[in-house]
Parts: sequence; C-alpha cells; structure tokens
Amino acid sequence: METSTSLRIAIQKNGRLTDKSIDLLENIGLRFDDYKNRLMVKCRNFDVELLLIRDDDIPEYVQDGVCDLGLVGANVTSEKVADVTVLKNLEYGYCRLSLAAPKNDGIKNPEDFEGKRIATSYPTLTQNYLQNNGITAKTVEISGAVEIAPTLDVADAICDLVSSGSTLRANGLSEIQPIFYSQTQLIKTNKVLSDEKEELISKFLIRIEGSQTAEKSRYIMMNSPKDSVDKITKIIPSLKSPTVLPLAENDLVAIHSVIPIKKFWSVMEQLKEAGATGIVILPIENMIL
Ligand code: AMP
Repeated sequence: METSTSLRIAIQKNGRLTDKSIDLLENIGLRFDDYKNRLMVKCRNFDVELLLIRDDDIPEYVQDGVCDLGLVGANVTSEKVADVTVLKNLEYGYCRLSLAAPKNDGIKNPEDFEGKRIATSYPTLTQNYLQNNGITAKTVEISGAVEIAPTLDVADAICDLVSSGSTLRANGLSEIQPIFYSQTQLIKTNKVLSDEKEELISKFLIRIEGSQTAEKSRYIMMNSPKDSVDKITKIIPSLKSPTVLPLAENDLVAIHSVIPIKKFWSVMEQLKEAGATGIVILPIENMIL
C-alpha cells in the first residue's frame, strides 16, 4: 500500500477493541462516517484516514510505515517484537497473558510446566517467560480457541489472554501464572514523518491526555456558608484553585472545582462535615490543563 499524505491510523476491525478505539478518537474530536464493514474510512474533519485491519497486523503495518499510528494491545506489539514507538497507554482493553492448566492435573506452579506442551497464540511471549524462568516446555501455536486444546489433547496446558477468568473456568482450567500484563496502546511508526503529520500527532496526544484526565475527574459544585470557605477550599483536592461565587443569599457562596474521581467519597464526607450543602457532581467530557 502507498504511503498516504493523510495521517493514517490503524485500528482493529471487528473485535473487542474496535468500538472503544472509535470512541476514543471521537472523544478527541475526530468524526467518521459509518466504519462497519469498511477497510478504510476518511475522517470528516481532519486529514486523517482510518485503516480497519486484524489487530495482529497492526504492529507490522505501523513498523513498515504503511500506517503512521496504531491502536493495539501491548500483547500484540510485544509478541510481534515490532520496531515501533509506544506513545501512550490508552487505559482500555486490559488483560493479562497467563499460563493455565486443567484443574486436578497436578500443575500448580510455573515449574510444573516443565516438559509440558503449551498451546498458545503467543509463542514468543510464552517462550520468553519460560526461558527467563529456566523452564523447558514445548509451545504449540494455535490461532484461536486455545482453551479447548487440553481437552483435544493437542496440549497439556495453555498460555492465553485472560481478563475476568470466566472463559478459563468454563473450560475447566485454572490460572497458574500471569506472564504479561496488557492494555491498548497508541503506537507510532519509527519511519520519518512530515512536519504536518508530526504536528497533528502532537495535537492528538494533548487531546488524549485531556480526555484521560477528564475521565478520571469530576466537576464538583456546592454551597458553603461564607465563614466556612477557607475550611472547605482546603479540603478540596483540586488541580487548580477552586472558584468561589457570590449567591443571592448573602451569607452563602457557591464553590466550584474539579477533583480526582478516586478522592470523591472521602472528600464528600469531609465537605458535609465542614458545612457544605447541595453538593453536585458532574462528569467532564474533556479537559485541557
Ligand atoms: P479480540 O477481539 O478477542 O481479538 O481481542 C483483541 C484484543 O483485546 C487482544 O489482543 C487484547 O489486547 C484485548 N483483550 C482484552 N481482554 C481480552 C480477553 N479477555 N481475551 C482476549 N483479548 C483481550
């Protein structure tokens, strides 16, 4: 495929990362026409085109400069040992690659995999782990439905992606050892790009950071007696100084601020104790600091 003058971004076609990747791009202001059943989609408001491909192919397309950026699981990039730059962890598609074995087969620790046949779609990551831990075992490469391999006697155990563990349990397997923790990442080609593309990528990064901060933050509003303002503003773990606004009722003010979501409950209790009333919490769509 020819190198394009538009910034070309690869995302997974028809998989568990597809909708979340589109959501992320739309959240940072990119607009696309219907992307279902399409290989390439032009962005309506930026000089960007999306390439929708198998996620296994994304690291190589980005490495070769066919695409400038890719949104793909760290598991895939590491398995392919792709020569690309990881720009950002995107905080979705969390999973782990784990060694697992049939329950009651006597495999309880990583050392118990010695001499076993391990079915996996990730032979490189699996062998890396085994070698680093002095375990000799054979990997049997399988591209899908890995968890059925022990039942079919294709292998004694498996090394597969796990998020909740329910698929393993449903197939009578126990998770023995996680060997790689993954999430979706923004990767960039190491090929030289035009100044225009580099500039667009920098803008995207700022927007992604804004959207990630917004997701972890909440806008908080409350009323406070005037003489409690100092106490209340000290409690609020805000990124910037809180806004204090006069109210029609003279002895009250409104205090507005942005707080990290994880501090929400502990702060809420302290604020009430300090005299705050009418506390309202709102989600934030985007935030540029
Ligand atoms: P899939 O659509 O099943 O091919 O999965 C695409 C990507 O989603 C994987 O390469 C992982 O990065 C990520 N992922 C997150 N959770 C899981 C999971 N439980 N099983 C498989 N992939 C997962």
